[in-house]
Amino acid sequence: MIIDLRSDTVTLPTPEMKEAMFNAKVGDDVFEDDESVNSLESLGASLFGKEAAIYCPSGTMTNQIGIKIHANAPGELICDELSHVYKYEGGGIGFNSGLATKLIKGSAGQITAAQIEAAINPDDIHFPETQIVSIENTCNKGGGTIYDLEELKKIRTLCTNKELKLHLDGARIFNAIVEADYSTKDIGAQFDTISICLSKGLGAPVGSLLLGTKTAIKKARRIRKLFGGGMRQAGFIAAAGTYALENNIERLREDHQRAKTLGESLSSLSYVKKVFPVYTNIVVFEVVDTIDMNVIIEKLNAKNILTVAFGPQQIRLVTHLDFTDDMLTEAIKILKSLN
Ligand SMILES: *Cc1c(COP(=O)(O)O)cnc(C)c1O
Repeated sequence: MIIDLRSDTVTLPTPEMKEAMFNAKVGDDVFEDDESVNSLESLGASLFGKEAAIYCPSGTMTNQIGIKIHANAPGELICDELSHVYKYEGGGIGFNSGLATKLIKGSAGQITAAQIEAAINPDDIHFPETQIVSIENTCNKGGGTIYDLEELKKIRTLCTNKELKLHLDGARIFNAIVEADYSTKDIGAQFDTISICLSKGLGAPVGSLLLGTKTAIKKARRIRKLFGGGMRQAGFIAAAGTYALENNIERLREDHQRAKTLGESLSSLSYVKKVFPVYTNIVVFEVVDTIDMNVIIEKLNAKNILTVAFGPQQIRLVTHLDFTDDMLTEAIKILKSLN
């Protein structure tokens, strides 16, 4: 048995999901006549109370399109220093949108309205004009942290007052929503554009949605084509996305429970210096200074537990749809055996 805890992207479609894919009604989505893509887009938009949505091959693409439709280079985007849009999208903010990025040192990937306000450039010809704020919820590099709705509302108000666009990298927004006291509609109301991933915790094989106004999504359609993301009979994969939205949201709580159990088990092990708080489905732990983290990763690997290095002496474990209770028991046994 291989226990793959590298990411929640490693899940394979279940027989039921495959059935939905196999039976999908398809057409040519570049002509906007793929029924399955259209219904996925309507479902995503209506869940969050947005006017429209566009289906894209990846979350990187939905983030980059979301940013590009708000950008008017030269200018600047504000985000936390741990943001995926900044760290893991190949420099796309500069390359695709021609914007500078101003990084804020937040708290585990989360920034406040006050920090954003202080980072907005004054109206001075020396400075790039501040145009966009990007928020990540949950924050991957922050260890799966969840934003407070009150803070998001403050950020919304600030952005409205300062005429800034507000984008959400919601790759794992459903992980936040099942834990927090807010709904998809509450989230929809705070942002100009929202990127959601169907291929993370929700378990679809491919795809992300960008949500926004009709005007924003019309612009996004042009940029998706420019980026090479206009797909044809995409309904086969979109049907998996619809299946995921209809069936796999509530069960994310199970992933969170298993992540908590993993975190608790790790905290008593002699080679573990520290386990970071477990908020959702991401467990990050630090290996003691006397042992090279790579030795632990290799030892786990040899016992069929796959993990990734996450920082200096830090290892990340991510729970997901294909990580069962039996695997949890086995994983804990193996983690303990390295003690
Ligand atoms: C995975 C992820 C994305 C998008 O990644 P793709 O692999 O391009 O789909 C964006 N933001 C965050 C926080 C992510 O974890």
